[in-house]
Amino acid sequence: MLSIGDCTLQTLDVQEFSLDGGSVFGAVPKVLWEKVIRPDHLNRVRLSMRLLLVRGQGRNILVDAAMGTAWNDKMKQIYDLSEWRLDRELQKAGLRRGDITDIIFTHLHFDHLAGAFEEENGELVPVFPHARYYVQQDNLQTALHPNLKEKPSYLSPFVEALSRLDGLAPVKGGTELIPGLELVPAGKGHTEGHQLVRITGSGKTLVHGGDLFPSSAHLGVTRGLTYDIAPLEVVGEKIVLLDEMVDKRVILYFAHDPLITAATLKRGEKHVVVDDILDF
Ligand SMILES: [Zn+2]
Repeated sequence: MLSIGDCTLQTLDVQEFSLDGGSVFGAVPKVLWEKVIRPDHLNRVRLSMRLLLVRGQGRNILVDAAMGTAWNDKMKQIYDLSEWRLDRELQKAGLRRGDITDIIFTHLHFDHLAGAFEEENGELVPVFPHARYYVQQDNLQTALHPNLKEKPSYLSPFVEALSRLDGLAPVKGGTELIPGLELVPAGKGHTEGHQLVRITGSGKTLVHGGDLFPSSAHLGVTRGLTYDIAPLEVVGEKIVLLDEMVDKRVILYFAHDPLITAATLKRGEKHVVVDDILDF
C-alpha cells in the first residue's frame, strides 16, 4: 500500500494477456526489445493489465478495468488471456464489487474497458453495480465512431454497453475528481481523448501512465506502440511529461509492465530510465 496525501493506493493484479512483440515495441528491433521482455514461441510478449485502486474521501476508485471474461474462445486464444482474478484481488483489499464507487478509463480500448462488463444471458452487464464511469468526452466520441485503424481496438459491444449506463459521466479536459486526484488529458498521440491520472499530496505525486507509458520499456520517447494513431505526437507528449516527472521525482505507474508496477525516474545515457522501483 502507498499513501499519497489523504489517498491510499493499491494494485489489483487481475489479469494478463499477450500481444505481438513487434506491435508493442513499434520500430524497435527485436534484438533489442527481446532483452527487455522475453517473447513466447509466437513472438508475443506477456503483459499485465494491473488496476490501480485509489481510496480516499470514502471513495474506492479504480483506474481502468482490464479485459475481463466476456470473450469467446478465439479471442482468448489470440490474446492468451489469463484467468480473471478480480474478486480475489478485491477481497485482499477488503472490498467487493459493489464497493467500487468510480472507474476512470484512461481510454476505451478493449484492454482497458471490457472488464467493466460480463456476459449474462447473452447480454453485457456491469461488473461494478454502483460505479460512476469517467472518460474524456473526445475519447467516448472516437470510441463510438472509430476510425478504421482503431476499429479493432474500440469494440462496439463494450463501448455501446458503456454508453447506455446511467453512471457514465464523460468529462471535458482536466478535472479534479476528489482532492488530490486529477484526470489529466494526455494529448491525441495514442488515441483521441487519452487521459492519465495524477495523484498528489504530502510532497508526493504518482502518475498513471496510461498507454503513453504502458511499461518501463516505453520510457524512450520514440518507443511507441504500433496502435498509436500519431507517433510523432506521442514523442512530444512524452518529452514534456518525462521532463516534469524526472525533475519532480514523480512515481510513474505502469499498467502493462510484466514486472515493474511503478518507479521514479532518472536521466540515463540515452533516455530516461527507471530509478527506484516501487511495488504496492
Ligand atoms: Zn490503448
